[in-house]
Amino acid sequence: MRIDKYLSDAGYGSRTTIKKLIKERKVVVNDEIVKKPEFQVKTTDEIYVNEIKVKYYENLYLLMNKPAGVVSATTDNSYQTVIDLVKDYPTKNLFPVGRLDIDTVGLLILTTDGDFSHRLTNPKSAIYKTYYAVFTGEYNEEIIKIFHDGIILDGEKTKPAYFEYLGNNSCNISICEGKFHQIKRMLKAVKLEVIYLKRIKYGSLLLDETLKEGEYRMLTNLEIKQIFE
Ligand code: URA
Repeated sequence: MRIDKYLSDAGYGSRTTIKKLIKERKVVVNDEIVKKPEFQVKTTDEIYVNEIKVKYYENLYLLMNKPAGVVSATTDNSYQTVIDLVKDYPTKNLFPVGRLDIDTVGLLILTTDGDFSHRLTNPKSAIYKTYYAVFTGEYNEEIIKIFHDGIILDGEKTKPAYFEYLGNNSCNISICEGKFHQIKRMLKAVKLEVIYLKRIKYGSLLLDETLKEGEYRMLTNLEIKQIFE
């Protein structure tokens, strides 16, 4: 394959951008500086751009600990996006799976794999996501049943949600839907107001607590497979 196509497919920008990189002598294949965009490469070649080894991914799967103040979108006119935070991987076709509010932190999956994302977010999959919340207001035990029985949001009853009180006005809540501001609105329905919200689990996937807010890592093949279980 031509190096310009290879690098473009690997997410290094348009062919024009890559031509520029080649002109600036920034592309090296097996210790040889590439001089022409039609230079031929194979997947077994050692390819470097700006002295960083190029990895070719069929699809990319990242686990991010999303910080507050950043939007779960690919582009935004006012705010930094979660994609802007990704520096070590090509971001072409990368998008977040579902959304977390701008002030919500924690587990966010980013991928280039549309099918994978669809399977995760399809209501039929009914995958449970767990959030840790800190709230103001008064907790009472009835909330557990109210959450389980369902609360009317957007004219529809929510599916069974699991509320676990942790003490000190904090709780874990598991839901299998992704309605707009769902946790905040469900808590508001029982007169509690969220002051901190963090997603800690998605399916069987736990937030990697070694990741600081804003950090991310590749999901392992096992995690990709097991997340649906
Ligand atoms: N529920 C919310 O209210 N906000 C989120 O970011 C996620 C779930």
